[in-house]
Amino acid sequence: MTPRLITLLAAAATLSGCTIIPRTVEPPAAALYEAGMVSAADPRASEAGAQMLRQGGTATDAAIATMLALTVVEPQSSGIGGGGFYVAANARGEVETIDGRETAPAAAHPQWFYKDGVLLKFPEVVPGATSVGVPGNIALAAKAHAAHGRLTWAALFAPAIKLAREGFAITPRLHAMLKSNAKVAGFSAEGRAMFFGADGQPLPVGTVVKNPALADSLQMFADQGAKAFYTGPNARAIVTKVTTAPVNPAPMTEADIAAYAAKDRAAVCGTYRAYRVCSMGPPSSGATTLLATLIQLERFDMKALGKDNPVSWHLIAESQRLAYADRARFAADADFVTVPVAGMIDRKYLTGRSALISQSGSIAKAVAGTPPGAEKLTFAPSSQLAENGTSHFAVVDRAGNAVSYTSTIESAFGSGIVAGGYYLNNELTDFDMNPQLNGRLVANRVEGGKRPRSSMTPALVFGPDGRLRLVVGAAGGATIPAQVIRAVIGVIDWDLPVQQALALPVLFAPGTETVYVEQGSWLEGMIPALKALGHADVQPRALPLKANAIELRGSQPWGAADPRSEGKAIRE
Ligand code: GLU
Repeated sequence: MTPRLITLLAAAATLSGCTIIPRTVEPPAAALYEAGMVSAADPRASEAGAQMLRQGGTATDAAIATMLALTVVEPQSSGIGGGGFYVAANARGEVETIDGRETAPAAAHPQWFYKDGVLLKFPEVVPGATSVGVPGNIALAAKAHAAHGRLTWAALFAPAIKLAREGFAITPRLHAMLKSNAKVAGFSAEGRAMFFGADGQPLPVGTVVKNPALADSLQMFADQGAKAFYTGPNARAIVTKVTTAPVNPAPMTEADIAAYAAKDRAAVCGTYRAYRVCSMGPPSSGATTLLATLIQLERFDMKALGKDNPVSWHLIAESQRLAYADRARFAADADFVTVPVAGMIDRKYLTGRSALISQSGSIAKAVAGTPPGAEKLTFAPSSQLAENGTSHFAVVDRAGNAVSYTSTIESAFGSGIVAGGYYLNNELTDFDMNPQLNGRLVANRVEGGKRPRSSMTPALVFGPDGRLRLVVGAAGGATIPAQVIRAVIGVIDWDLPVQQALALPVLFAPGTETVYVEQGSWLEGMIPALKALGHADVQPRALPLKANAIELRGSQPWGAADPRSEGKAIRE
């Protein structure tokens, strides 16, 4: 890294309040890894990415092709009708992030989710158009491709267009989600025609579905570039669908869509033991929640305690409770409200927070602290927990570039509105629908042009030698940081191969008191022990878990897909 680059990075770090540790790892003379790899939640999407690597594309090319293919084959989870976050590193360990989060239309306001003065309920605003934000994934892809792509823009679209044009089989997971979310999936005529039979039932597993409207849209974006998404017929189609929705029509304009910009953000990094951990800052709560939880745990010997010891899980629960309390109070779009990012991951502050944790007892009520920079902030805690329509994918190429990208349409099938063959997101429900509590404003309230707070935690972990060790992320709303925390501890502290780390059960403790353990997992057997450690309320819960990762050991990438999912890693 040149001194100028280090200075620039340091300046960016100061500005954004993150810690960037300059590295002196030399770029590889030849290929760094023996193979490239793509891990995604659907094998056909992993294959789309792998094809790009085979054609000489970069990790960024592969990640974009994967995102596009997921739009087709995993329409319940993510796609070009939604947004995402891209966290990338080169072989020198320099990290950058792009924010492709959906944005509220200019007309949006704190009472956006009220009707006649009454706050609507989540199921009342999904499906419908009030929840739709201006999509960000195509703008993100264009920005990332311009900086780090090697293949042509059009080449990235080829696998997705083929899948949409020639058809793709309905998987058991898609079928199950069509069944459990039939109202949203079949909200629009296009959704019903694509995925439901004449009897109104979801089409059976294995049915080959074609999506020519999406193939045409993708072909147009491939031919004309990202501007064809944000202007012209596609933008008009979105506006028409949103403004004339039969339920909750909303005043999104073509100007809202044309104004969308994916944003470069400084990566938020910190250290856990001898490892450097980087992830996504505001509007995501991912990096701060991940880093705070890990740093608060650092003084405990998690390795010696081990994964089979209830004390380990108790400590993870306590640390999460503290980190999620800060998240609830402070995390939001930093372009609109002050988010004390540096303070939330400040080691001195977190040493104080960690001192609240005891190995033998439980904090009665976990509340937010006052991280440096938050002294004057009076925000009320958010009560919003995100939903379940997301996909994470991890990519490395032979040259040592890596991408950790989480893409979402928020809950399953997003808003249910289909434009141009793709589902539009319901990301605006990631805002706090109620803008205030006890007379105090919530940081994550709706505002025109603002981006809703996210839980997405696309992460990169670098080893003590400075080299990349782990590319990881997950879907599952507010459980996402908890899933990533579990994976990082699994790999670093418990020395598990990444596939086993993703198979570990998840403990999720986002609230002041309640601790959830993954239903059906061996953590259920620890409930009495956790109660004995002072947790009054420990409940088994079916959690929406789906992580994907790649671990680098020496020159070898090892892919991992969540055993709870249909995901697959492909080596190329
Ligand atoms: N919309 C959520 C977020 O950005 C993610 C939803 C999910 O993972 O299912 O945090």
